[in-house]
Amino acid sequence: MSKKSFGKFIPTVAHRDGWNCHYCKKPIAKQHQMIPSEAGYTVPKGFVFGTIDHKIPRSKGGDNQLENFVLSCHVCNSKKSNKHTYLEFKTLMGGAV
Ligand SMILES: [Zn+2]
Repeated sequence: MSKKSFGKFIPTVAHRDGWNCHYCKKPIAKQHQMIPSEAGYTVPKGFVFGTIDHKIPRSKGGDNQLENFVLSCHVCNSKKSNKHTYLEFKTLMGGAV
């Protein structure tokens, strides 16, 4: 597994959507809040590690465009994985579709 790093698209997507996980609404740590560690970074207590989720996975033809990105914590992103579509997972998490 590669070192965790701060995804280059996170600030752009967070600027659009706010600094919360799109699915579970937990606060995503901003770059300056992250704590360097042996694994790359850890996040302060109460925050989650942000990732970019592709609404339509690249394996299903989704592209690397801002409209296809949502800010997701690493927990939601790994739960969603490629087992659920965006709408399925959002419904599963109780979000309004
Ligand atoms: Zn989440």
